[in-house]
Amino acid sequence: MVDEHGEAANRLAVVCAYLDEIRRDLRQELGEDQALEQVLAAVRDGVDLAGPLTALHAVLQAANGDPLGLDGYAGTGSGTRGLQPVGISDRPGERVYLCPAGRCARYWWPQATTSVPHCHISDADLRRERL
Ligand SMILES: [Zn+2]
Repeated sequence: MVDEHGEAANRLAVVCAYLDEIRRDLRQELGEDQALEQVLAAVRDGVDLAGPLTALHAVLQAANGDPLGLDGYAGTGSGTRGLQPVGISDRPGERVYLCPAGRCARYWWPQATTSVPHCHISDADLRRERL
């Protein structure tokens, strides 16, 4: 089940970073964003996210006609520098910003010219951590 958990965290990181885009696409293609709301409700309630995230993934695949579904959003915009777990960094001692909700795998390296990204799930800026 470790694998499944990691996959959910990675997918949640995509929602965290691209919530607005995902919501826009769902409303545009389907006229509603219920699958997204289910994920957010599961985060709020602290229940298992794998089911709602898989459902959202499938809905996005259909809505966008894109087999990448949820995964297709990663790497297309700003806010994430990748969705790898923190802790395997080759930049020890540096500051990193993590999802304040602590539920997704999102992280972000500080960039001088960019302000700290916002977590759309917990509605707060990413929190700073030292590696
Ligand atoms: Zn987040």
